[in-house]
Amino acid sequence: MPEAPKITKKPADYNLELKNKRTLQFIEDITSNADELQKNVLGEILSRNAHVEYLQMHGLNHRTDRESFKSIMPVITYEDIQPYVERIANGDTSPILCSKPISEFLTSSGTSGGERKLMPTIEEELGRRSLLYSLLMPVMSQFVPGLDKGKGMYFLFIKSEAKTPGGLVARPVLTSYYKSSHFKDRPYDPYTNYTSPNETILCPDSYQSMYSQMLCGLCQHKEVLRVGAVFASGFIRAIKFLEKHWRFLCKDIRTGTIDSQITDQSVREAVMNILKPDPKLADFIEAECSKDSWQGIITRLWPNTKYVDVIVTGTMSQYIPTLDYYSNGLPLVCTMYASSECYFGVNLNPLCKPSEVSYTLVPTMAYFEFLPVQRNNGVSNSISVPKTLNEKEQQQLVDLVDVKLGQEYELVVTTYSGLYRYRVGDVLRVAGFKNKAPQFNFICRKNVVLSIDSDKTDEVELQHAVKNAVNHLLPFDATLAEYTSFADTTTIPGHYVLYWELSLNGNTPIPPSVFEDCCLTIEESLNTVYRQGRVCDKSIGPLEIKIVESGTFDKLMDYAISLGASINQYKTPRCVKFAPIVELLNSRVVSCYFSPKCPKWFPGHKQWINTD
Ligand code: AMP
Repeated sequence: MPEAPKITKKPADYNLELKNKRTLQFIEDITSNADELQKNVLGEILSRNAHVEYLQMHGLNHRTDRESFKSIMPVITYEDIQPYVERIANGDTSPILCSKPISEFLTSSGTSGGERKLMPTIEEELGRRSLLYSLLMPVMSQFVPGLDKGKGMYFLFIKSEAKTPGGLVARPVLTSYYKSSHFKDRPYDPYTNYTSPNETILCPDSYQSMYSQMLCGLCQHKEVLRVGAVFASGFIRAIKFLEKHWRFLCKDIRTGTIDSQITDQSVREAVMNILKPDPKLADFIEAECSKDSWQGIITRLWPNTKYVDVIVTGTMSQYIPTLDYYSNGLPLVCTMYASSECYFGVNLNPLCKPSEVSYTLVPTMAYFEFLPVQRNNGVSNSISVPKTLNEKEQQQLVDLVDVKLGQEYELVVTTYSGLYRYRVGDVLRVAGFKNKAPQFNFICRKNVVLSIDSDKTDEVELQHAVKNAVNHLLPFDATLAEYTSFADTTTIPGHYVLYWELSLNGNTPIPPSVFEDCCLTIEESLNTVYRQGRVCDKSIGPLEIKIVESGTFDKLMDYAISLGASINQYKTPRCVKFAPIVELLNSRVVSCYFSPKCPKWFPGHKQWINTD
């Protein structure tokens, strides 16, 4: 049973104004001294870890200055440290990457070989994450006053966790944070006053967690001043949940009892502290939810909401129209940019348009470097970054304060928990500066072509999955002439669509079940994060194959060339986003098929399951 949170009463001497002022001054100070702080951060990381195996093996030899570090240490990707990570996972507790004990693994939504990447972390990183969170609301309070007078309705969830063979826990970074005392026992702070009791957030059953959080949010609807989730997709999922379950929720509010499907005792107890029979509120919710249109449902049900706090930068921008619809155009606020490897930065101008969001990197979080990126212009507008870097390229990395306005870079981090010159895989563009600290637009994640929720599918994975699926066509003497893909978020949950153009040589018609098998085979071949989204979180809908008329991909090429693509260099894009191209493809669809069931998915890592 989760621990009860400590009593979080307002201390007599609590002074919010002063606290906010101090935090804003802290931001002034760290951004003004960005370079000095970065030098110190690197020095501290390298001196503490001077004797770890990884640094010794590369011959850094206890040096802690930037020049030696940059000339000796290679710029790496996950694959380069995977053998070290595996040793730690298997129980080797010697100082391999970091001098401090590894407290757990954070499972990134980025994958390697189909499995989640494992990021070793140390206990003190929780403090750095808390620090970044603590900056968000003082910043926000400059733009929206009075947020301390009510509550935030945030849909927050934990996910399943596994144990490595060596006994360390492996779980997503937010699960780790919500289960930590930094979150559970947070001291009084009017800005972390949420409608969801901790027990509802910490409930491992995603249905019960969502149901109880929604119920508490509805009961306290007048107090809610802001709503949100981590990513836009999660918030829309909550609204869809309400669409499906509002009758049960209203019944609970009317009677002051909780639906019997909520079996978790600690959740029931926590909800009962909030839930009181309220037939008037139930009538109101029922009246709003049974209207034909759900436009503006957020402002209707939670009338004091000032903004929607969700990340809509990067691939999540596909959800902006849906959020605008449900919220009647409330500001969409992206407050922070973070990852399992490290929390990076905050948005200092949170009421700006989503397309203009920029994140100021916090120079005390890690040591940051930037690899200049060249963009390949053309239809796919793809980003070209070399997979491994030669010596000259490694020298081209620039420091935080030396990035140039308008230039795009791939982010490279050196962290307190033992990543050295690690390529995060995100491409950022310099949008401006806060004092000496640059502010970055998030451009994209390198190589990712498809994403609905936290899944990230790259071109190679997609190619491999498609190759497996087309085997089903062999008995029919049919081959795949061309294909492309599209992340369709007009459905909720969104789903992957593949457009297939076939070459048919045989005479036997291909039965629908064969295409359905193709859909399922693709899903089975995709990475664990995709399959978890399908099976466990239900955040991704069944994959669809749309068969298009023959000649469609020629038309696509004609269209791209009419837009200025070079005929010699034209390659079929393996993913399309541009609306006219999607329309062109859709106008030539002859039949559609969906995956008939969920692919297989197991928590934990493939290798660990085999060792059981
Ligand atoms: P994970 O390691 O699973 O926590 O995923 C971290 C990744 O999510 C980052 O490297 C980004 O690609 C993406 N991400 C996190 N925050 C943002 C943001 N504010 N805007 C766009 N993408 C983000």
